[in-house]
Amino acid sequence: LQVNKLTVIESYSVLEADGIISARQGSGYFVSTVIPACNNLKSTFAPAQNVMILESSSKCASFDTYTPLIHAQTQPGIINFGYGYPPPPKDINQIARRALKQEDADIYFPYDLPQGQINLCRQIAQMLVQQGLEVYPEDLIVTNGSQQGLSLAINYYLQPGDWVIVESPTYYGAISILENLGARIIGIPMTAEGMNLDLLEQYLHSHSPKLIYTITTFHNPTGLTTTQTHRQELLALAEKYECPILEDNAYEGLNFEPVPAPIKALDKHDLVTYLGTFSKTLLPGLRVGYMVVTGKHQPAMIERKFLHDIHTSSISQAIVSEYLASGHYRRHLNRLRTDNLQSRNAMLQALERYFPQEAKWTVPKGGLFLWVQLPDDIPMQTLRNEALAENVFLACRSAFFPDKQGYPAMRLTFRLPLEEIETGVAIVGKLLKKHIHK
Ligand code: PMP
Repeated sequence: LQVNKLTVIESYSVLEADGIISARQGSGYFVSTVIPACNNLKSTFAPAQNVMILESSSKCASFDTYTPLIHAQTQPGIINFGYGYPPPPKDINQIARRALKQEDADIYFPYDLPQGQINLCRQIAQMLVQQGLEVYPEDLIVTNGSQQGLSLAINYYLQPGDWVIVESPTYYGAISILENLGARIIGIPMTAEGMNLDLLEQYLHSHSPKLIYTITTFHNPTGLTTTQTHRQELLALAEKYECPILEDNAYEGLNFEPVPAPIKALDKHDLVTYLGTFSKTLLPGLRVGYMVVTGKHQPAMIERKFLHDIHTSSISQAIVSEYLASGHYRRHLNRLRTDNLQSRNAMLQALERYFPQEAKWTVPKGGLFLWVQLPDDIPMQTLRNEALAENVFLACRSAFFPDKQGYPAMRLTFRLPLEEIETGVAIVGKLLKKHIHK
């Protein structure tokens, strides 16, 4: 029996993409080392129960949070627990060069359609179908990162003064868009299963909000994933009260274990707008994200996209499209997941070793960070300054809560070199113990 050489090569790349074998330069392929299970590392997350309401604010918390994060990233020697992004794919230069071939300049450099390049829309639709979503290329709008999708959807569904429901805590970039618009924010506590549904229903009933914003998978900042049952119940409540959902899935693809399909997969009434991005899996600087918008909302959203910036950079779209076409994306994702899982486990072990027992943390099933809750009397600003004096940057609670207060907590990125995780956690653990045992 003769087997075609190409079949063998293809089989090797599938096994490698699935993490079963790995290549060692000059030596061939080897069966991958199994990552040690961390079953003993349990989540101790204990959700707070208070609803947070913000009726008005003139502050733009995300700008105040974001700018120091970016500065910290460029400071040599700093361990930055505040910010996590994927390492650039090794072959990105080659892919970019291939994507921008001189002979295709006519395709990429003129103005384009607002919804995005059809090729890329087809590729994204295919990717989403694999996640259980029934999506057609026409349902997609390629955005300038999912941040633009957030802004377009929030400004589409809400008027100044409208009530909106968010999880508490939540992504500071969403809080800022809502504040900037003059929306009134209700923060429903996040539990280990997803947002507290009893409280959600109470506020759907009493405040008639115009939108529910939810980060269903590897929630920012807690790292928690909304369960399948919770997703179904959340959608059922949204249907009952006819309240649209904005589902932000910025960390999709970064899972260590299977996760439930997005709520959008269950949506029969065009109630859910879905957001995704390549920022967490490829390169945030490319600024390529997408939204799935169905039914009557589609033309209106495309018009808004046009009004904002005509269309997303054709060059960035071409690079992403070429990367997806190259077949390297799947392999890249598998490597990311393997590396991230190793880092997550290293962080959990370091937390066990160095943090005081009063601290409680989540064990995310994917994504880039976990959430540590601390005792009420920890002076967070002091802790942050003390950590910075020892070259450790922390993203602390206030920006993540709608009322800017919340409980003492921090989001720790595990997407860091293993030795930085160990050193950084040891430093913060030492500082915490000092405050607790004062
Ligand atoms: N949503 C969430 C939950 C995020 O964490 C982020 C970035 N941190 C975004 C949206 C925006 O991402 P981008 O615009 O880079 O796609």
